Amino acid sequence: RNWAESGLPKRLLELVDQVGYTEPSAVQRAAIPIALQARDLIGVAVTGSGKTASFLLPLLVYIDGLPRLDEFEWRRNDGPYALILAPTRELAQQIETEARKFAGPLGYNVVSIVGGHSIEEQAYNLRNGAEIVIATPGRLVDCIERRILVLSQCCYVVMDEADRMIDLGFEEPVNKILDALPVSNEKPDTEEAEDAKTMTMQLGGSTRYRQTMMYSATMPVAVERIARKYLRRPATVTI
Ligand code: AMP
Repeated sequence: RNWAESGLPKRLLELVDQVGYTEPSAVQRAAIPIALQARDLIGVAVTGSGKTASFLLPLLVYIDGLPRLDEFEWRRNDGPYALILAPTRELAQQIETEARKFAGPLGYNVVSIVGGHSIEEQAYNLRNGAEIVIATPGRLVDCIERRILVLSQCCYVVMDEADRMIDLGFEEPVNKILDALPVSNEKPDTEEAEDAKTMTMQLGGSTRYRQTMMYSATMPVAVERIARKYLRRPATVTI
């Protein structure tokens, strides 16, 4: 099976080709068509499976359907469209590298918010705004509390390596972050309104829903608890 069957739009298929991914990996084949229907998703997959691109590519399709953020002030004040949570600085950096390959050519800014940098440095990196923020949970809570970052229009959320986030003691900050997101994940459950863009159009263009994805190598109770709390009718993909 090839990329053409993934359902990705032409622009992204060209990018995938330029990046040199000749064939989609198993998790990409399974997850991308589901994510493109604006469905919540649990991906049981490990690092090395290509899971990063499996959430990044649909993420870019989603934000490409939203208004362009040309207005400097507006962009800065309302925060990112997409948030990716990762347990460690190293993983956040790997995701950032992967995200830049695809987001860069499409003209989106990617900023990561991780420990090991001063808060001032992080505020500086966010000065021009970013459509995509990648963060470790503890540091993100700091930035939200200090009002360096707001998440008022964040509508695509990925929790990567959720089991490791729990192991590292991040259940509380993860809950805090997801509880604070104002964009609702209570998507209407109609056959006709399957994808986010259709829903947005049907509802006059102003209502958006949050799409939430969770990736984890294992599914301990604490991870199930987060999934039940923040995902709506998720599809599960196991590789
Ligand atoms: P990940 O599991 O997302 O950390 O990806 C592991 C590595 O595989 C990364 O270096 C990616 O750049 C690479 N990769 C992801 N998808 C593909 C693909 N379809 N073809 C070739 N390499 C890929």
